[in-house]
Amino acid sequence: MRIVAAKKLLKANDQLAEENRSRFNRSGVFVVNVVGSPGCGKTTLLEALFAKLATRLAPAVIEGDLASSIDAERIERLGIPVVQINTDGACHLDATMVAAAADGFDYDKLDLLVIENVGNLVCPAGFDLGEHLRIVILSVSEGDDKIAKYPTIFQKSHVLLITKTDLLKYSNFNVERAVADMKHLAPEAEIFQVSALAGYGMDDLADWLAAKCG
Ligand code: MG
Ligand code: ZN
Repeated sequence: MRIVAAKKLLKANDQLAEENRSRFNRSGVFVVNVVGSPGCGKTTLLEALFAKLATRLAPAVIEGDLASSIDAERIERLGIPVVQINTDGACHLDATMVAAAADGFDYDKLDLLVIENVGNLVCPAGFDLGEHLRIVILSVSEGDDKIAKYPTIFQKSHVLLITKTDLLKYSNFNVERAVADMKHLAPEAEIFQVSALAGYGMDDLADWLAAKCG
């Protein structure tokens, strides 16, 4: 019988993630890993954010999806360099995939690399990709109980974006509860409330991220 120890695989991932981070540091590019459920608005958020940041910094994107290049095409339409990773069924990105995708960019021209992870609130929490910052998105339409139900990914994130706040008026989503649950799990985390479609809160978020990219 052959037994594969998941802990060893994760250790290998962590080592490769550190190599990715060293490479990003040498290149002077700030790297953000965006995690959240399918349909929470990751790509829409990026489109709105890049519109705000267009004159200030040069971004690139790695898109992670099981299949298709729908999201990468949306980013490409903005004239932003993008690489699509198709995981062929795998429900998260790992550091190996990111290392391969990261070969495709001209780092001299970049300030920010955004990795849009596969939509999933579970296992992306366990895979360091070599990013500097992990942003977790919770949309109003998912419900305010998801932080308590999927604590690991929220605990391991540096920023919580509560998105689709334009839908609050149609919803029983309790922002105070979500904020309190996040502060309990990750007291140091930054919390923003935004609507990419309505534009709420996007200036503050863009200013904050631009400052991070220094
Ligand atoms: Mg997407
Ligand atoms: Zn997974």
